[in-house]
Amino acid sequence: MGTILFNEIVFGPIRSRRLGSSLGVNLLPKFGKWCSFDCIYCECGWNKDGRNDTRLPERKEVFEALEGRLRALSAEGTPVDTITFSGNGEPTMHPDFPAIIDFTLKLREELYPSAKVSVLSNATQLGRKEVRDALMKVDNPILKIDSPLEELVEAINIPNEAYSLERTIENIKLFNHNFILQTMFLKGMESGREIDCTSPEHVEKWRALVRELAPREVMMYTIDRETPAKNLQKVTVEEMQQIAAPLIAEGYEIQIRG
Ligand code: SF4
Repeated sequence: MGTILFNEIVFGPIRSRRLGSSLGVNLLPKFGKWCSFDCIYCECGWNKDGRNDTRLPERKEVFEALEGRLRALSAEGTPVDTITFSGNGEPTMHPDFPAIIDFTLKLREELYPSAKVSVLSNATQLGRKEVRDALMKVDNPILKIDSPLEELVEAINIPNEAYSLERTIENIKLFNHNFILQTMFLKGMESGREIDCTSPEHVEKWRALVRELAPREVMMYTIDRETPAKNLQKVTVEEMQQIAAPLIAEGYEIQIRG
């Protein structure tokens, strides 16, 4: 399978169209995947394929890896625009996520004061106050809702714990608009069911969701690499532009990545 795992705690910096020079932090197993979703498009593959490595890095290891890398990059004058928590699964599931965010913000202040701290999260842990508080401290909490339709969330994201779209929306509202909404757009067949994020019903309800949440920014994207589910197709940039057009006209900040 052509999916990718990040085999380091700290990786990069890599050039990201969305985030610039991005130093990645992986709080998940180095050789396995750990996530509360099992998205049909996940670049890390299916959860079941990453079960042989379940060891999470300890807080101290993360601190040492991040401090060492930031000091080395600073000494050689390499720019870092953002420190980005992503990696092999859902970063907020790490039990020390809040403490790790606290020391990351301190390291940023000392070594790269102009860098942003970003977290790519599937928003499943927002019911835990300590996770929400930590995400509210970072510059870019990038929160995923891939569909405004619960049955499509089930089909696209395959939550492996109880998931409520309504509760997730209520938790995201606690960010008071200060977050970035991320939505994947795709089409295809999976497990005998047709998925089409460009259908009129999906598009109308997604626009309504954006208006309800009013995030400070929206990131629309589509599949980029090989996906664990076969039979998936990209949505074109032109299609996403059409979907976004009324929202852009209303003043929403929307990034589209094809
Ligand atoms: S939320 Fe992210 S890491 Fe988890 S399965 Fe989906 S794409 Fe993969």
